[in-house]
Amino acid sequence: PFVYLNGAMTPLSEAKVSVLDRGFIFGDGIYEVIPVYDRKPFRPAQHLARFFRGIEAVNIRNPHSEAEWLTLVDKVVQTAPTEDQLAYLQITRGPAPRTHAFPAQEPKPTVFLMSNPLIPPTLAMLENGVACVTMEDKRWLRCEIKSISLLGNVLAAQNAAAQQANETLQFRDGSLTEGSSSNVWIVKDGTLLGPPVDNLILEGIRYHLIAELCEANGIPFESRRIARNEVFTADEVLLSSAGKEILPVASIDGRTVGNGKPGPIFKKLYASYQIAKRA
Ligand code: PLP
Repeated sequence: PFVYLNGAMTPLSEAKVSVLDRGFIFGDGIYEVIPVYDRKPFRPAQHLARFFRGIEAVNIRNPHSEAEWLTLVDKVVQTAPTEDQLAYLQITRGPAPRTHAFPAQEPKPTVFLMSNPLIPPTLAMLENGVACVTMEDKRWLRCEIKSISLLGNVLAAQNAAAQQANETLQFRDGSLTEGSSSNVWIVKDGTLLGPPVDNLILEGIRYHLIAELCEANGIPFESRRIARNEVFTADEVLLSSAGKEILPVASIDGRTVGNGKPGPIFKKLYASYQIAKRA
């Protein structure tokens, strides 16, 4: 497979960056993941807008316009083997002598893109729901930035993997934040509830999309703090992300969610999502 690195399409095995790259040394970079269906990026403008917000938030010099980034996405998408993909974009502050603060002499940002097959959730996951576990959210307080510094998310994901669960639902000060790499939703009395969009979560591109799908399906939607006990007593719990799309949760910490089966709100949103993603 080919990847894009700093100006050229390169075989993956030949793509190399400096060991002094601040991405490698400090996790000093921003990334983005765009789902691609039939080789067409899904909601690219929203993904690029979030990517640009992150780059600006950490003062990395963005060497490309939105149109140029989209051209680079298209390059990796066209050379990838499958029709449905997850395109990955990354920019780091670039290589520089190791000092924490931004280098006095601004380095050249490292630009990297690749695209991998999108493996959608299995039928079993969609029909039975997935198991989740919980833990305290111990990440930093700038979760709205899609930073490549993902150690907190890595540990949350591993916490799930170690318990044969699909995802870890994180709580901060007793309120639901998000998964290790997904947003989390609950359904109570027919209303879909999502945590507030603030610095404690990454605003998924599916966040706004799901609000739209609720509107289209006549499902009441509310964004507010969600207490831990509300998650455990919810009628339905859902996950969303570029790769997971929309997934039903069957159990949390071994306790059954609702009646243990994917519920009516999941089914409506899932069906609408399947239409939207190839529209
Ligand atoms: N929250 C975190 C921490 C994530 O890593 C992701 C990425 O998948 C999401 C939420 C969901 O965002 P999106 O819907 O843009 O994939």
